[in-house]
Amino acid sequence: MMAQYLEIKAQAPDCLLFYRMGDFYELFFEDAVKAAEALDITLTKRGQHLGQDIPMAGVPVHSADSYLARLIQHRFKVAVCEQTEDPAEAKKRGSKAVVRREIVRLVTPGTLTEDALLDARANNYLAALARVRDAWSLAWADMSTGELSVQPVEPATLAATLAQLAPGELLVPDDSGWTQGAGGASGAGGDDAGAPPAGGLEAAEAAGTAITREPAARFASDAGERRLTRLFDVATTAGFGDLSRADLAALGALLGYLEDTQKGRLPRLTAPRRCDPAGTMLIDAATRRNLELDRTLAGERRGSLLAEIDKTVTGAGARAMARRLAAPLTDAEAINRRLDAVEFFVDDADRRADLRGLLRQAPDLERALARLSVGRGGPRDLAAVRDALAAARAIRARLAPADHDLDRLPSDLSAAQQGLAALGPDDSLSTLLDSALVAEPPVLARDGGFVAPGYDAALDDHRRLRDESRRLIAGLEADYRQETGIQSLKIKHNNVLGFHVDVTARHAEALLAPPLNARFIHRQTLANNVRFTTTDLADLARKIAEAGDRALAMEQEIFQRLSDAVLDAGLALTAIAEALAALDVATALADLAQTRRWVRPIVDDSLAFGIEGGRHPVVEAALIAQGAARFVANDCDLRRDRRLWLVTGPNMAGKSTFLRQNALIAVLAQMGGFVPADAAHIGVVDRLFSRVGASDDLAHGRSTFMVEMVETAAILNQAGERALVILDEIGRGTATYDGLSIAWATVEHLHDLNRARALFATHYHELTVLKERLDALALRAMGVKEYDGELIFLHEVVQGAADRSYGIQVAKLAGLPPPVIERARQVLAQLEASSTGPTALVNDLPLFQAMAAAQAASEPATHPAAGAHPVLDTLAETDPDSLTPRAALDLLYELKRLA
Ligand code: ADP
Repeated sequence: MMAQYLEIKAQAPDCLLFYRMGDFYELFFEDAVKAAEALDITLTKRGQHLGQDIPMAGVPVHSADSYLARLIQHRFKVAVCEQTEDPAEAKKRGSKAVVRREIVRLVTPGTLTEDALLDARANNYLAALARVRDAWSLAWADMSTGELSVQPVEPATLAATLAQLAPGELLVPDDSGWTQGAGGASGAGGDDAGAPPAGGLEAAEAAGTAITREPAARFASDAGERRLTRLFDVATTAGFGDLSRADLAALGALLGYLEDTQKGRLPRLTAPRRCDPAGTMLIDAATRRNLELDRTLAGERRGSLLAEIDKTVTGAGARAMARRLAAPLTDAEAINRRLDAVEFFVDDADRRADLRGLLRQAPDLERALARLSVGRGGPRDLAAVRDALAAARAIRARLAPADHDLDRLPSDLSAAQQGLAALGPDDSLSTLLDSALVAEPPVLARDGGFVAPGYDAALDDHRRLRDESRRLIAGLEADYRQETGIQSLKIKHNNVLGFHVDVTARHAEALLAPPLNARFIHRQTLANNVRFTTTDLADLARKIAEAGDRALAMEQEIFQRLSDAVLDAGLALTAIAEALAALDVATALADLAQTRRWVRPIVDDSLAFGIEGGRHPVVEAALIAQGAARFVANDCDLRRDRRLWLVTGPNMAGKSTFLRQNALIAVLAQMGGFVPADAAHIGVVDRLFSRVGASDDLAHGRSTFMVEMVETAAILNQAGERALVILDEIGRGTATYDGLSIAWATVEHLHDLNRARALFATHYHELTVLKERLDALALRAMGVKEYDGELIFLHEVVQGAADRSYGIQVAKLAGLPPPVIERARQVLAQLEASSTGPTALVNDLPLFQAMAAAQAASEPATHPAAGAHPVLDTLAETDPDSLTPRAALDLLYELKRLA
């Protein structure tokens, strides 16, 4: 057995091997040690190998799913090895023969389908990153829903794209070139298309993605093309749009891995959809984290924006909502189509309520379909399809009862209505499932009992026979009691003896003696019972078994037929599932808009950013829940001539809240939702950047200040005119003058070079003197009042600058001992008296603009808008000291060519 184990283990060296032995999956050697620790199960020993004890740990088969889930959470992969023959068969080959076993499946973080292993309300993606020459591409699939997509990526934006997708598992080539020269975070240049995007991978890994390295050959584009044409049974991939070599390579690697892990049984997948990276608002990982889009800084879903806005009532709807929030659109038209759909349901509350009631009854069609397609589905999945179709019919009838109603629906909703009708007018699949299945079928097909009576006459016959025989057995029992006079005689059943007559030891004598011993044949004597059989009973038992077996076999056949019928309708069912999810999202957003009194934003291609009476959706909800103070609404207007707001005010005055709320409003608007404001006008934002609060990235050995600077670098290097930037407390993590200087230069760069719409919060009120020099800089402050030496926060954004930072007052609020407060007041007074003051600073420093222009010429690559000349680029990259005479000559020719 150990020989077999080692042979199988060698087929999946990077997985934990679940080796099936009877009712357990056993793990051995290192696997056992790792699993025992991760699962907190007992580590035992079994036998010896090369003179050493073999560590062993096991999990029961019936509860294996929950253990698998935990191992996957710990980023392990598991190979499931089953017995693939009956132990009785093995015995025939010899008493020492080992039962044949095979790996039937690899369970990896990106290839799950079981409900027990998945979060119903989140997608779980497997992604693959490929590079062909200078082009990069990312392909991804959700095996549990069948979605398959591909998108070109730039090394510089890879981290943001991965953060948007948050795949459970990412495949990359095991090329050694990939792991070298890790370029830090996304901000570090990114103009070299050949550089390994290690920063992106690092960030994804930190965010919980398992990185799987596959042989580089797996990423060959021609093999990818062949896989695609084979899988979708087409002559060419041209029908899938303009797929690049890199796209094909990524898709190929993805499909190859799926085939491997499913042992050849590919899941049902939609044709690959090619996404346009410019179609979505780019939000890097740091910004997502800072804004707490789908998780709080503490890593929880509760308290995130997603948790606050997600009022969907189905799993598929929740997944669609999360996808939309992760990838707000940049096409104003598409955004407005989504907004039309939401508005329709805001206006028609009755229809909305009815639809949400119906949606609640729709099971998870996508996931049922996916399980059926990999052969892991059961009768309950068929019932899920049936019930989802019934819900879809009812929803169609309610959404647009008559044909002419269709024209009155906004275009996204009429598209959904058409999606719901994808099975056509004579929906034979529903008819089939309705007639074939019982109302509430069991999870597993194995034990039968799911085909409805009346569906198949032959099956009904066998079942009748089986059930009648059971009645005959009851009759036989009564006869035997009469015949023997033993009232406690019973006919029982167990797996060893099958049906048998059972009497207590006290009564056994009578049956063992003539004349009864002619009929009752002794089988077994236990301490208190004695067991017999009879020819009548054996006959009957055989009939029952035969009828039962036949009925079961027929049910298995019917299951296969139904399952095939469902998979044949796969495309239409996918369309229906998508339509249901889209309706769930639209009605949920409408519900939210109405209960919270949110408004429809105006979204267009301008560079406007005007918010009236804006609120922070999560903070406001928290205040309402506490029944405490009311949230104070604030305006924000970043039109061109005042596109950069410098917001000052003491700590706790509400600066961060104000900054974040405006970013969140942009995200909500562009995902196609209403926004928490009285009015909003937003010119499409193409990238959102934030540098908010302090968070140590200790896991990566970077201090708060370093993290802050890396994030700031990314913003200054990448933000363009269409971006929205929020910066909070830049330079806090270092000495005061360093910090102030960095903040100062950052404001100037943002204003003069990035020209993005931006909110800059700072406690350095010295910065406000910049107003004199930067035309588009506007000063705002958080209103506070001092009353009787106490500080009162008004949470109101007012024109102008804060006069002081009130740090000592805030410290007092926090409960610092009075002597410390008093001493601090003295020190401050002293400092203020001796300082030169910020006005002196502004007069003495050279002009930023002149300096930046000079620098842009000498270091053209630091900013995308700098428009460098290739000769300068090449020169900048050249280190003259390291050139050989020959290389210097080559360089000269190269420069001549570029000139
Ligand atoms: P700062 O960034 O200036 O230190 P915060 O934005 O963290 O301040 O706000 C501190 C607290 O003040 C928040 O936790 C919130 O409870 C409250 N707050 C902030 N803005 C508002 C507002 N507009 N209305 C009511 N309360 C607010």
